[in-house]
Amino acid sequence: MSPSDAPTVLAVHAHPDDESIATGGLLARAVDAGWRAVVVSATGGERGEIVGEGMDPDEVRPRLREVRAAEMEAALATLGAEPPRWLGYRDSGMVGDPGNDDPASLWRAPFDEAVERLVAVIRAERPALVVTYDAFGIYGHPDHVQAHRLTLCAVEAAAVPALHPAAGPAWEVSALDLATISRTAIAEMNRAFPEHGTVSPFGTETDPAAIAMGVPAEAIDLTVDVRAHLERKVAAVRQHRSQLALDSFFVGMPDALTELAMGTEAYQRRRGAVVDPGDPLAGLG
Ligand SMILES: [Zn+2]
Repeated sequence: MSPSDAPTVLAVHAHPDDESIATGGLLARAVDAGWRAVVVSATGGERGEIVGEGMDPDEVRPRLREVRAAEMEAALATLGAEPPRWLGYRDSGMVGDPGNDDPASLWRAPFDEAVERLVAVIRAERPALVVTYDAFGIYGHPDHVQAHRLTLCAVEAAAVPALHPAAGPAWEVSALDLATISRTAIAEMNRAFPEHGTVSPFGTETDPAAIAMGVPAEAIDLTVDVRAHLERKVAAVRQHRSQLALDSFFVGMPDALTELAMGTEAYQRRRGAVVDPGDPLAGLG
């Protein structure tokens, strides 16, 4: 799998399904623009809830890593991205979960070792654009926060030949974007979902200033309209069957709400200049 001449976007995620939910529109858009899209997941999502239709959690749990890897392959194929890359850590679970104490978990991994694994992926894939989560991991999951920290360090380290020399020749990433969500958009969803007789996944607060996750609208650098890629994004999310309860908001949601919740992706640019606030690929590649 040798990198071709096409520009590459590398998305660094914590668990299978995050790539489609948080960045699926951008990845599909990049593929349609002739880019290579590569996704690396830090963990196999082994502590994810098993809620898929017809799945027996006790039966699936011991082989959840394999199940989620297969779902990830299918999701990335749906988006047009390359097969998944893995950093090889275990899911740490939410704050307070015993998974946080697992020595094989991402949360417990020696930080420099994890940076080196990611540096090796960056140097092998040579991305123009790297994408990960905002500093709060969008909603505070320890693995998301750790993926953010790792990515910031690995992007810097990948460009320095003296650092991690065993991880390949140095590579300078042109742009780094952090997937986030606007508090104004969350407030709008929290207002709109009840109007359609359903509950917003973000709760009921309708005052942006009182919402703790995401970032204020003015802290967003790129607002990407992914409605043209929405069908593929939703189809990719649905490939993660083990994570998808029948009452999930990804199943059977009115089109207007799907568009509201998933038709726009917001990013903070942490490296590189913003050329077009509606297009993270502009000026790259
Ligand atoms: Zn996640």
